[in-house]
Amino acid sequence: MDAVVIGAGIIGSWVALALARAGLSVAVFDASNKPGDGISGRNSGVLHAGIYYDPGSLKAIHCQRGRNLTEEFLQKHRVPFTICGKLVVGEKDDEPRLITLLENAKRCGAEGLSIISQPGRNYIGVRGSRALHSSKTGVVDAPAYLSAVRAQAEANGALFLLGRTVTEIDHGRIVTRLMRTAHHEEITCDWIVNAAGLDSDTVAGWAGVSGYEIRPNRGEYFRLRKQLPYPKLVYPLPLLDSTALGVHYTFHLNGDAYAGPNSIWAENKKDYRITASRREFYLSLSRILEGYEEADLEPGYAGLRPRLFINGIPQRDFVILENPDRVIHMLGIESPGLTSAPSLAEAIAARVTRGEKIHPNS
Ligand SMILES: Cc1cc2nc3c(=O)[nH]c(=O)nc-3n(C[C@H](O)[C@H](O)[C@H](O)COP(=O)(O)OP(=O)(O)OC[C@H]3O[C@@H](n4cnc5c(N)ncnc54)[C@H](O)[C@@H]3O)c2cc1C
Repeated sequence: MDAVVIGAGIIGSWVALALARAGLSVAVFDASNKPGDGISGRNSGVLHAGIYYDPGSLKAIHCQRGRNLTEEFLQKHRVPFTICGKLVVGEKDDEPRLITLLENAKRCGAEGLSIISQPGRNYIGVRGSRALHSSKTGVVDAPAYLSAVRAQAEANGALFLLGRTVTEIDHGRIVTRLMRTAHHEEITCDWIVNAAGLDSDTVAGWAGVSGYEIRPNRGEYFRLRKQLPYPKLVYPLPLLDSTALGVHYTFHLNGDAYAGPNSIWAENKKDYRITASRREFYLSLSRILEGYEEADLEPGYAGLRPRLFINGIPQRDFVILENPDRVIHMLGIESPGLTSAPSLAEAIAARVTRGEKIHPNS
């Protein structure tokens, strides 16, 4: 093969599509028979407008471009989505932080932003005296989106080999094991792209990259018995010094509404328990919305953030590195990874097909 991609989540699937569109022969391996089981199927499904990130960071750059490329793709392939907009709410004392967030968003190149007073006047139940409104934020049907990207990658010639765990990589050589069997395959390829999500640190270790560790950070959701009477995402102001955005109100396109996600260190990479109490979630939700009772919340689902530490130091940004030559690792692809995927894939394809540098810090 010209290229082998490890992981068929949204990142690996987009990388496969970008490489296949460029005319390369591509095989994608995933340990799971249902790749949406990973991070890509357990998130908020929000298309972020890019307001929170450090200007110039990979998150800021790829979220902006990724949002626009994603919207184009969703429209073209008729994947359900809505650009419903979102509110980040604060009290009067929070106004300086809302302005700081607005300025940061503008430096990141985000558009469609305004500060509104008394958001509850137009949006029943929304608390706070001021809110930052982002008209470009949306929600996508994440499972349908992942299927559509895979279908397009396959239509362009990419081969998806599911239920196959990659167990070893070497420069230009990759060994896989078929699920639940002792059957081994060996493939030679020119390029390897590690898009293994929570396990991308293990795969990087096989390539000789040391000191990189993914610690799973759980985000739990509680399902709400009723939706707001209008389609809008409602967020608190983000916590200082955290890459988590705080428990917010979100909805899926099937009509379910959720409060979440919180942020808790998981015990391992399969720890999808819900340990927070209904009361905790109710109190968090009550800071941004009124009109809900504690009895309106029931445990929903949980996802795991792939938090990256390098030599024990937490990283705020995505990390992409090539080590050794022609083996590219995509690490710490947490939020806004769903939004950024097509733009990250474009950068990988530019490196593979035209020899371009991925990012000055890579
Ligand atoms: C709680 C939460 C909320 C989020 N909300 C949002 C949001 O609203 N908007 C947004 O833009 N982003 C959001 N994100 C981030 C986004 O979901 C992720 O950035 C994105 O889904 C990561 O995709 P991935 O392909 O890297 O990982 P995955 O989907 O996990 O794919 C990795 C794949 O690699 C496979 N794999 C691993 N090891 C091997 C191996 N050895 N051999 C073969 N296969 C292997 C796994 O089986 C898996 O299928 C959220 C994340 C979380 C956790």
